[in-house]
Amino acid sequence: MTKQAAGPGQWRNWAGTATATPARWAQPRNEAEISAAVKEAAAAGLPVRALGSGHSFTPAAATSGLALDLSLWTGVTAADTQTGLVTVRSGTTLRALSAALAQIGLALANLGDIDAQTISGALATGTHGTGARLGGLAAQVEALDLILADGSLVTCSASAWPELFAAARVGLGALGVVTTVTLRCLPSFTLIADERPVPVEQVIEQLDSLAADNDHFEFYWFPYGRNALVKRNNRVPAGGGPGPARMPGWRRFWEFEVMENAGFGTLCRLGRAAPRFIPALGRLSSAALSTRSYTDASYRVFVTPRRVRFVESEYAVPRESLSGVLAELRRAVPRLADPVMFPVEVRVAAADDIWLSTAYGRDTAYVAIHQYTGLPYQAYFDLFESVVAEVAGRPHWGKMHSLDAGRLAPLYPRFDDFRRVRAQVDPEGRFGNPYLGRVFGPAG
Ligand SMILES: Cc1cc2nc3c(=O)[nH]c(=O)nc-3n(C[C@H](O)[C@H](O)[C@H](O)COP(=O)(O)OP(=O)(O)OC[C@H]3O[C@@H](n4cnc5c(N)ncnc54)[C@H](O)[C@@H]3O)c2cc1C
Repeated sequence: MTKQAAGPGQWRNWAGTATATPARWAQPRNEAEISAAVKEAAAAGLPVRALGSGHSFTPAAATSGLALDLSLWTGVTAADTQTGLVTVRSGTTLRALSAALAQIGLALANLGDIDAQTISGALATGTHGTGARLGGLAAQVEALDLILADGSLVTCSASAWPELFAAARVGLGALGVVTTVTLRCLPSFTLIADERPVPVEQVIEQLDSLAADNDHFEFYWFPYGRNALVKRNNRVPAGGGPGPARMPGWRRFWEFEVMENAGFGTLCRLGRAAPRFIPALGRLSSAALSTRSYTDASYRVFVTPRRVRFVESEYAVPRESLSGVLAELRRAVPRLADPVMFPVEVRVAAADDIWLSTAYGRDTAYVAIHQYTGLPYQAYFDLFESVVAEVAGRPHWGKMHSLDAGRLAPLYPRFDDFRRVRAQVDPEGRFGNPYLGRVFGPAG
């Protein structure tokens, strides 16, 4: 049974927004066992889903058929420190991958907020961090190996089956079971982190320069407060000065575990017990923001522990639409009947050419909204969807949204190409589930 098991035979995601009772579980230890499990499920007429770490808010991984738990299929299989090309088994978590890369002097160019996801789960839904000159994780992929619906093992890359490669880098598990991922990594690098409160009007006025002038820029807007928390992470130039000090272990524990998790968790519980105080608690959080600056290895700066549970929706909007979206949210969110406990997170990414990447063909801003678990969120999420719909917003594939194939198709110029490749490699919809049925329509 896996770490996501919620009861005998049950699967549940991190946020508790999706559950499933698979008819069959398998924990393959090699590619032959993955292939055999897929073929046996086909013979029994069962659908198949590969499981990651269960960190999608959508039921992307849920299945009533065969759940493929890849937690025994982990580790780096090849690494070339000259080219930076590293091949990793698909069940490896980003945390384990970063640790393995650090040992050989390499690092991923960018990461999101956490590293609990598996590499294949993170890729499947288009997981991204922030950086106006950088793409999401999928933009770092050079090749993929997959087991297809007929049990065959195939390789795809820019030169080998390029259409499958364009589709499968952000493939939602719809095309096959990814078995290994080859990534282009960078030599290990250090980041200077600078986090400080800034009046939200000022941040919005300076969005373009903040995005352009920093390697990794993001901010958190507290819906009832004056200040946003602006985070700027910049690479230490080769031969550059020492910069601010590393954060000592005790302070890391204090800042990230005590203040950001235990302290914020207490505020959230207070807000849930007495929702009328939420706007005041939000103002308090915004006013209490402090400045910190430190230097550390990239993968330690990118990610922070997230122990307070929440629900989340995130949309990718054209970069030039961001200030309009924020203006509309700033106007409408404080008027919601049910107040919002969590800040809104804003990030940026460069355009890419991956068919179902949320940044396909356009420089992108990501706007992520959250609500503390157990508090009402539907009206907030509906309002958000209506605002981003005006600017052709594309939902994160792993975060909550209500779009179906009819509404998604016009947002993605290569949507039909994706469906064509899917029909080619999985004509019977072996890797389907109700979520894929909604977002792609029937397979085949
Ligand atoms: C606290 C938290 C913070 C987050 N931060 C960010 C962030 O900063 N940026 C961001 O973009 N997203 C973020 N997310 C979303 C998260 O990165 C994605 O939902 C990601 O898909 C989760 O990876 P996972 O390993 O948990 O995969 P799962 O959620 O378990 O699965 C996701 C999909 O991948 C498929 N899959 C898994 N393994 C394979 C495989 N081997 N072959 C084929 N398909 C496979 C599954 O079938 C499913 O469709 C966050 C989520 C949480 C809960």
